[in-house]
Amino acid sequence: MYHKPMTDITKVRDLIRNSKHTVVLTGAGISAESGVPTFRGTDGLWRKYRPEELATPEAFHRDPLTVWEWYQWRRGLIAECHPNAAHQLVVSWEKNLPHVSVVTQNVDGLHRLAGSTDVMELHGNIWEVRCTREGTVKEDRTHPFSSLPPLCSCGAMLRPNVVWFGESLPSAVLERAFEEVQTADLCIVIGTSSMVQPAASLPYHGLSSGARVIEVNPQHTPLTGHATVSLPMTAVQFAEALGIHEG
Ligand code: NAD
Repeated sequence: MYHKPMTDITKVRDLIRNSKHTVVLTGAGISAESGVPTFRGTDGLWRKYRPEELATPEAFHRDPLTVWEWYQWRRGLIAECHPNAAHQLVVSWEKNLPHVSVVTQNVDGLHRLAGSTDVMELHGNIWEVRCTREGTVKEDRTHPFSSLPPLCSCGAMLRPNVVWFGESLPSAVLERAFEEVQTADLCIVIGTSSMVQPAASLPYHGLSSGARVIEVNPQHTPLTGHATVSLPMTAVQFAEALGIHEG
């Protein structure tokens, strides 16, 4: 189905107000104004490494200490960050619209911290650890760990419970995310480069099932030309345009 492009924030407001089933898809950009660096921004680097070199099973196998030092640095950084007006806007939709779910590529936990209750974390959560022997997962907000790499009570190494480059996404979470976009009438895509698969394909599944797609991103992305409306603004500017202010 072809939907005429719209540019007016008033029309965006109407699309949101009239939605019976909204799915919010978020990426690193929604947390950027909370102070969490995106991977592709200039501040996405740590020491001399790129995330693609550290967030891999091979890197962990080769050098678990360096990978854990990076995660410890990121955990410390995220611990200082608070949800921003865009996270709060998503919570307000959950309160005011019939059905709202959140599918995020973020591992920072800021959606839940803001108060969203139906959050699908496609790439895991940086505040969870997983035993490399037993596979058990638990929340662990220790910061900093007294020694690295942290160990499970069974003596095996723990790893961050996040999805690394080259690993599969949790299948039940992914399945539900696809179901959500295919039954939604509105997908709101905030702050994702729309380049990391399979998350990047979710809005297209929504479009082909008849959903409208609103994209919020200050940069042009592969999705921009396909979205029903694309708003070239930051996540917080979007929240402010819709009446949610910081503080
Ligand atoms: P990305 O780093 O590839 O892209 C971020 C996107 O956000 C870009 O398109 C950029 O233009 C946009 N952006 C930047 N500032 C913005 C703002 N203020 N408002 C709105 N948009 C803004 O991130 P991605 O597409 O989410 O995916 C890459 C991977 O990075 C994911 O796997 C994710 O797990 C991981 N990641 C997560 C976090 C986090 O948890 N906060 C941070 C960095 C990377």
